[in-house]
Amino acid sequence: MKVIMLGAPGAGKGTQAIKIADKYGIPHISTGDIFRYNIKNNTELGKKAKTYMDQGKLVPDELTCDLLLDRVAKDDCKNGYILDGYPRTIPQAEVLEKALNEKGDSIDFAINVNVPDDNIVNRMSGRRTCPQCGETYHIVYNAPKKEDVCDKCGSALIQRDDDKPETVQKRLAVYHEQTEPLVEYYKNKGKYKEVDGTKSMDDVFSDICAILG
Ligand code: ADP
Ligand code: ADP
Ligand code: ZN
Repeated sequence: MKVIMLGAPGAGKGTQAIKIADKYGIPHISTGDIFRYNIKNNTELGKKAKTYMDQGKLVPDELTCDLLLDRVAKDDCKNGYILDGYPRTIPQAEVLEKALNEKGDSIDFAINVNVPDDNIVNRMSGRRTCPQCGETYHIVYNAPKKEDVCDKCGSALIQRDDDKPETVQKRLAVYHEQTEPLVEYYKNKGKYKEVDGTKSMDDVFSDICAILG
C-alpha cells in the first residue's frame, strides 16, 4: 500500500502517519525528518536545506525529488510506504508518478488532513519535538508525562525553530500557494480522500483506517 499524507503544516500528518505505519507495517517516510537528520549531522544537504527551512520556504525540488526516489527504492519499501510531507509541489508529484509508472505502479491514496488556518497556529505554537528520537508532542493535546521531557527517551523537548509564529505564517502562505494545488491534482487522478483533521487524534485515525481498509 502506498499512501500520501497531504495537509497544511501542523495538520497532524506526522502524528497519523506514524500510527498508520505501525498498523500496516510499512515505513513512514518524512522528508522533513530526513532534512532535519542531515542538519543535525551537518551534511552538505543539511547545510543547503537549512537556509530554506529557517525561512519557512520549501527546499528546492532539485534537492528533494532524488532524495525521495532513493528512499522509496530501498528494500523496506517493497510492500509500500506512507509519505509524510512529500509531494509538496506539482513537479514533485509528477516525478514520483513517473517513477512509479515506469514500474507499472501507482500510489493508492492521497489523504488530505483538513484543518483550517486558525487552528494551525495553535497547533504549531504548542508543538514540542524530541531532538533525539523525533517524537512529537503538544503541550495541551498530547502532553508528555513529565513537562518538557520525552516519554520515549528522556531527552529535553524543544520547539522547532520553524514553529515560531512568524515562520508559521510564512509556511502557511507557502502551503496555500505551492502545495494546496495537489488537492486538484489527486482529485483528477481519482486518488483523493479527505478527513476532518480538527477531530481528536483517535477519531482522525479511525477515519483514515476506514479509508485504507
Ligand atoms: P510539517 O511537519 O510542519 O509539515 P515538515 O517536517 O514536513 O513540516 O517540513 C519542515 C520543512 O522541511 C518544510 O517547511 C520545508 O522547508 C522542508 N521540506 C520538507 N519536505 C519538503 C518537500 N517535500 N519539499 C520541499 N521542502 C520540504
Ligand atoms: P504535521 O506533521 O502535519 O506538521 P504534527 O503531526 O506534527 O503535524 O502535529 C502538529 C501538532 O498538533 C503536534 O503538536 C501534535 O501533537 C498536534 N496534533 C496532531 N493531531 C492533532 C489532533 N487531532 N488534535 C489536536 N492536536 C493534534
Ligand atoms: Zn525522545
